[in-house]
Amino acid sequence: MAMGLLQSGCSVSFARALRSRTFTTISSTVTVPSLKKASQMETRFLLGLSEEQLQQLSLDFGQKSFRGKQLYHLLYKRKVKEIQEFSQLPLEFRNDLEEAGWRVGRSPIHKAVTAADGTTKLLIKLEDNRLVETVGIPVKDNDGSSRLTACVSSQVGCPLRCSFCATGKGGFSRNLKSHEIVEQVLAIEELFKQRVTNVVFMGMGEPMLNMKEVLEAYRCLNKDILIGQRMITISTVGVPNTIKKLASYKLQSTLALSLHAPNQSLREKIVPSAKSYPLNAIMKDCRDYFLETRRRVSFEYTLLAGVNDSVKHAIELAELLHEWGRGHHVNLIPFNPIDGSEYKRPSKKSVIAFVSALESRKVTASVRQTRGLDASAACGQLRNEFQKSPLLSGSIDQESHSEVALAS
Ligand code: SAH
Repeated sequence: MAMGLLQSGCSVSFARALRSRTFTTISSTVTVPSLKKASQMETRFLLGLSEEQLQQLSLDFGQKSFRGKQLYHLLYKRKVKEIQEFSQLPLEFRNDLEEAGWRVGRSPIHKAVTAADGTTKLLIKLEDNRLVETVGIPVKDNDGSSRLTACVSSQVGCPLRCSFCATGKGGFSRNLKSHEIVEQVLAIEELFKQRVTNVVFMGMGEPMLNMKEVLEAYRCLNKDILIGQRMITISTVGVPNTIKKLASYKLQSTLALSLHAPNQSLREKIVPSAKSYPLNAIMKDCRDYFLETRRRVSFEYTLLAGVNDSVKHAIELAELLHEWGRGHHVNLIPFNPIDGSEYKRPSKKSVIAFVSALESRKVTASVRQTRGLDASAACGQLRNEFQKSPLLSGSIDQESHSEVALAS
């Protein structure tokens, strides 16, 4: 799913987040290949490398380390997309990089669909012809300032098959590499001609099944593209042993836990992967995440009419949250209908009743606003329209598909 996180009201500026003493460095290593012929080399990507790594890369190519600083500037400030367009660098260095298999790591846009409210969904065509979705959500705040949220994917498809999610229905293909996550944010910036202020890992895939690449991308988004940690949300349906690990990095980011049910048996019906991670264990890990990071966990709850949206469910949810601590927040997402699903969107009346049952029990809740594209293209649907199965990587015949209708 994607649209939304419109409530992520964050008051901390980039600068403050960056000065924060709790700033965590996630180390990543770069192995610089020697100057072999391109045919012998696997492709390597500059996007995602830190300034130090780019300096080292320059030294390894027999260049002065200030060339690394230039590379850094070209990649992350000027956002240049091709090595040959790095015109400040000597031609010889550019050629050497390319011959050794290096690329910037920016892919073409296969399709862009914009709704009347400005929300834009992009399909990015990766090197292996697979398509991945990313969404840009512009929001004007009451004080006149504007935010731009990028909802990024972490995998091509998803293996977890939550019953209401279009991404899972399309199957799973592969994890994204860190540069393929970072480039989604840059693609949104380029399209909107505006800096991305917030990033939510709520696109295709389960970030905690691809933690290494997600954390590398996170490092780059925070340190190099200068998106404050507090402006980044990682959303997970819950993968055993990963929340603890994530907490150990002490990121200043919100963890969003996709709960969807107030008890184990209902959750197992909606989320098949719940069987391997009991609700109590999830709640304990979320509490520990809060204790470790002091960042509030928010709970995502997709409202499915007649399944999990009654006042009884809301009361049970409030009790569950109180049992495990204070200050939890619930994000309610009325179901966005997807092809071939029997679930129904709840009525406004039942959403309001659900919210007030939570609020009267002192659980804060927000209802995610439906943005223009939700109606026609919940997460995964646009991709499914163009590539029914992510397991197929053949080239895509663009002409054979009709335009996706825009919701207004
Ligand atoms: N795998 C991660 C991130 C991707 S889904 C996770 O589960 O959190 C991001 C959010 O969108 C999740 O809360 C998911 O439950 C929700 N979502 C997916 N499809 C949806 C749909 N059709 N209608 C409403 N919410 C949906």
